[in-house]
Amino acid sequence: MKQNYFEKKRLSMVENQLEHRGLKDIRVLEAMRKVPRHLFVIDELQERAYDDCALPIGEGQTISQPYMVACMTELLELKGDEKVLEVGTGSGYQCAVLSMLAREVYTVERIRSIASDAEKLLTSLKYNNVKVIVSDGSIGLPEHAPFDCIIVTAGAPEIPRPYIDQLAVDGRLVIPVGSRYSQVLCKIRKTSSGIQESTYTACVFVPLIGKEGWRSENDY
Ligand code: SAM
Repeated sequence: MKQNYFEKKRLSMVENQLEHRGLKDIRVLEAMRKVPRHLFVIDELQERAYDDCALPIGEGQTISQPYMVACMTELLELKGDEKVLEVGTGSGYQCAVLSMLAREVYTVERIRSIASDAEKLLTSLKYNNVKVIVSDGSIGLPEHAPFDCIIVTAGAPEIPRPYIDQLAVDGRLVIPVGSRYSQVLCKIRKTSSGIQESTYTACVFVPLIGKEGWRSENDY
């Protein structure tokens, strides 16, 4: 009964927040219709899981707004055979969406307790093509490179060079770049003749903290 209730909320979220705002990738929309977002938020906020906003997940971190998850995923142009790196596992929700759309997903989180909760949930929901790793994702994941796609779900002061180095040719990187409190979504495509950069919507993400990001919680 409750399951049906959340499913209705999810279908309405996809129609009103995603399709009405112009998102078109059929596979992304279908994944957003399937992944049970209410299981990725804390119990007290389940009722608000499909609201048009980010929500707190503890440790000062957030699960991103559904629109932002879908928008960033659409920009990756996933066809199903990609090896993807996600930086910033958080709740694991974005990872679950990626898992339905790509061959394999490496997701990196710097806070051990958050990574551990996300890993347990992803395993229990049988997202089996996912590997959760605790490390500083601002330097990428050199031991598993190259990646067809890299998605960064925390805001960086500038684009970390290791991400470009770890992209395969024709690979796509999607990352919020800007100040601590406001960023712009950037997409990089690595081609055999160089880098193509385009910018999209304004956004607000928690900071990417690490060697190639912000140095600490208070560095701005
Ligand atoms: N993708 C997440 C989801 O679906 O719930 C939302 C991620 S939240 C907006 C950003 C996450 O990035 C936080 O959990 C934060 O701890 C993590 N983070 C920040 N800097 C990081 C770094 N250098 N390496 C890995 N994770 C990092």
